[in-house]
Amino acid sequence: MKILVAVKRVIDYNVQIRVKEDGSGIVTENVKMSTNPPDDNAIEEAVKIKESGKASEVIAVSVGEEKAQETVRKALAVGADRGILVKVDGIVEPLAVSKVLQKIVEKEKPDLVFMGKQAIDDDCNQTGQMLAALLNWPQATFASKIELKDKLLEVTREVDEGLEIIEVNIPAIVTCDLRLNEPRYASLPNIMKAKKKPIEQINASDLGVDTKPRIEQIKVEEPPKRKAGIKVATVEELVQKLKNEAKVI
Ligand code: AMP
Repeated sequence: MKILVAVKRVIDYNVQIRVKEDGSGIVTENVKMSTNPPDDNAIEEAVKIKESGKASEVIAVSVGEEKAQETVRKALAVGADRGILVKVDGIVEPLAVSKVLQKIVEKEKPDLVFMGKQAIDDDCNQTGQMLAALLNWPQATFASKIELKDKLLEVTREVDEGLEIIEVNIPAIVTCDLRLNEPRYASLPNIMKAKKKPIEQINASDLGVDTKPRIEQIKVEEPPKRKAGIKVATVEELVQKLKNEAKVI
C-alpha cells in the first residue's frame, strides 16, 4: 500500500496578515511560511498507517514555487519516505493543483491520497473533491477518524448532525480534519536524516498541465476596524443606549 500526501506551503497561521498598500494582494515578503495545518494531520495519519505495517511507502507532494521544497522536506522529517515538488511560479489555483495531482497519481499509482480538508490561505476546500472527480475515485472529506479494513476505508466525519461514518473503496481520496490526530514534531536527528531523502523536481509544464490562473483578483482590503467599546455606569444607561443609539431593543 502506497500513500500519497499533498502538502501546501502557506503563511504560518500565527502571522498577522497585512494587506499591500496598493490593495494588489497581501504581504508575503519576510513572512514565516509553514505547512498548511490539516496537511500535517494528513502526513501524520499516513505515517501512522505505515508504522502499523499496513503501508509500505508515504510520498509527500507539493505544488508551488521552489521554496515549497521546505514543506516537502518537513514532511520527510516526520516520516514520509520521499518527496515530489511540482514547480509552478505564482498563484496556483485548486483546479490546476488537482490536475497536477492527477498526473502524479497516474505516475505513482498510490492506493490512497491524503490531503488537508482546506488550505488556510485560500479557504477553498476544493482540491480533494476535484481530484476525486478527475480520477473518478471515491472521496471521504473532513475525516476525523480513519480505519483501514482490507480493501475498504472506514472514515468518521464530523458533520452538523453529529458523527457520520462512511465506507469508501480503495483507491480513495481522503481530506483530513484537524481533529484526526496530533501531528508529531520533527526531531533533530530526523530533520538531519530527511536531508538525505530524495525529492524529485518536476515542472508542471512537463506534465502537460495548464496552470494559468482563471480567477482574477480585483482588490484585497483590510476588514473595517472595530470601533472601541465604551463603559456605561448603570444598567439604565445601558438600556437607554441599546434603545436610542444601537436601536436593538
Ligand atoms: P484547498 O482546496 O485550496 O482548500 O486545499 C485543500 C487541500 O489540497 C490542502 O489542504 C492540500 O492538502 C491540498 N493542496 C492545495 N493546494 C496545494 C498545493 N499547491 N500543493 C500541494 N497540495 C495542495
